[in-house]
Amino acid sequence: MTFWKEKILVGRTALKNRLRKGLFLLDGAMGTQLMTLGVEPGKCSELLNFESPGLVIRIHKAYLDAGSDAVLTNTFGGNGFALARHGLASRVAEINTTGAQRAREAAGRSKYVLGDIGPSGDFLEPLGSLKPDQLSATFADQAGALVAGGVDGFIIETMTAVEEIVIAIKSAKAVAPGLPVLASMSFDKRGDDFKTMMGVDVKTAVSFLVAAGADAVGFNCGTTTLDEYVDLAKRYVAAAKAVNDKVLVFAEPNAGKPELLDGKAVYKVTPDEFAEAAKKIYEAGVIIIGGCCGTTPEHINAVSKKLRS
Ligand SMILES: [Zn+2]
Repeated sequence: MTFWKEKILVGRTALKNRLRKGLFLLDGAMGTQLMTLGVEPGKCSELLNFESPGLVIRIHKAYLDAGSDAVLTNTFGGNGFALARHGLASRVAEINTTGAQRAREAAGRSKYVLGDIGPSGDFLEPLGSLKPDQLSATFADQAGALVAGGVDGFIIETMTAVEEIVIAIKSAKAVAPGLPVLASMSFDKRGDDFKTMMGVDVKTAVSFLVAAGADAVGFNCGTTTLDEYVDLAKRYVAAAKAVNDKVLVFAEPNAGKPELLDGKAVYKVTPDEFAEAAKKIYEAGVIIIGGCCGTTPEHINAVSKKLRS
């Protein structure tokens, strides 16, 4: 740990210790918030860390004011493969370091910053074209750049393939062994069960994420109703307990199941409804809670009020 990093930590407990102390609120959506504020779909939103720093910091601050203990960097699509689709593969370092710095500008020294890592958008061979060492190097580059920008830990989310998320967890841990990694997959309801798009069930996900070294295992996004998220939370907690008593569970549900309106995904769950579900998720044993697509600072504020009053 560098001197500079030690200075940043003054005034707040290292994230790993803080997570053991009970309820910890993450933020809500960044992507859908940016679109609400006029950013066009399809635009590389990570570029806004440079082009519209004020906008990015404003969204981070709105979540912190609403009650979030941590914000996620605007780097979800910041790995080399995702950036390559925008012709930006050569800018991984500056995009991620700047994203971390923007979040830190909002969070200051009293709140936490999680470096956000999303999927590559491709699959490992033989299903896709990726080789494991290539993928590992790509995630390590992103994680290293996030650490250079001063993150307190990582959140790896919206993953559907267990092989990919395991590589991402190990890469982040190799880059910064002392920083906690929150690892999350996206589930859909399939009959009586929950599975990711790639067919991974809850027990398999939890056991692989824990074995890879994740400090907290979770679920985010996906297409389920609020009641189904509560059910998923119960199954996740049971699966985590069966593997290791000390593993933390986290949840970032969407604002309900998306409905298609004129070809656009619309999330209709109100902040109060969201907070009601968050309470049940918390009571099921999930102590780290945030929101994914369609959630806003109002949703997080409703959760904060409900769970902290
Ligand atoms: Zn989402």
